[in-house]
Amino acid sequence: MISTGKAANTWDVIGLGANSVDYVYMLPAYPQASGPRAKMRVSAHFLSCGGQIATALATCSQMGLRAKYLGTTGTDDNGRRIREELGRRKIDLTDAIIRDVPNQFAVILVEEKSGERIVLWDRDERLQLRARELPAEVFLSTRVLHVDDVDQDAAIRAARLVRDRGVLVTSDIDRVTDLTEELVASVTVPIFAEHVPVAMTGEHDPERALRKLRRVHDGLLCVTLGANGAMALDGDRPIYLPAFKVDAVDTTGAGDVFRGAFIYALLEGHPPAEVLRFANAAAAVSCTRVGAIDGVPSLDEARRLMA
Ligand code: ADP
Repeated sequence: MISTGKAANTWDVIGLGANSVDYVYMLPAYPQASGPRAKMRVSAHFLSCGGQIATALATCSQMGLRAKYLGTTGTDDNGRRIREELGRRKIDLTDAIIRDVPNQFAVILVEEKSGERIVLWDRDERLQLRARELPAEVFLSTRVLHVDDVDQDAAIRAARLVRDRGVLVTSDIDRVTDLTEELVASVTVPIFAEHVPVAMTGEHDPERALRKLRRVHDGLLCVTLGANGAMALDGDRPIYLPAFKVDAVDTTGAGDVFRGAFIYALLEGHPPAEVLRFANAAAAVSCTRVGAIDGVPSLDEARRLMA
């Protein structure tokens, strides 16, 4: 059983990592370089706030957790837009950094029939958050720290700082770099994107891949599997929970909502199988709506789908 800290902390969750403003284009099919799909009319387009940590925190806040964001935003319209959106969602921004550069953004192409998407993104190098810039004392006033793998030095430093002091560290691990193993070893619960355990171990079967990752991490390991749901390895016990069946219109942010709901359920003290089931339900609700943060479900909506 994972210890979830004392309720007396100022924050339930601090998120450290990426935010984004997404330019979303809904398309009747994926584009191709030649043939009839080389030119297509977009069915709909809109701006939506997102980014993995911002969306996970928006989920936590929507479910009633006290959430704080740590990361960098720009001074352009997108920077203002994301700060307004997070503020409106009652996420604390006191220690978020504003840099005089454009905010991170993404162009997201959503195929309408499946809701699957392609994400094309850019982030100004000057948005990088350095480990020495972290407000160390703040991290000890939370029950959970949630990190991504964008500025890995900062994420590893923050995770190490708090993990031994009883703060639970969850994570969003979406790529493999020289620092990935170190990041995995530094957090309490690594939550991988589907392709990562495969790339780290060479095993295509998720259970076998998680078992091989035992060499770097001996606690709860979790991987999201898109429309197939999610899997965890709890000690020696594999736990597989299929996805809830929904009419998906946009899967953007589903993994982030999954992690936000995972944090909520962990803090409620649920066992791993229930945590995964609840996270699957929240993520599935988010797939029925367009946009990342715009797709964040309420607690009731997630519970209703489970029921
Ligand atoms: P990421 O956005 O990080 O790539 P996934 O695509 O693995 O994450 O999706 C995260 C979670 O969202 C899955 O574990 C599942 O619970 C849910 N999910 C994703 N796609 C669907 C879908 N088509 N139908 C229902 N649930 C889905």
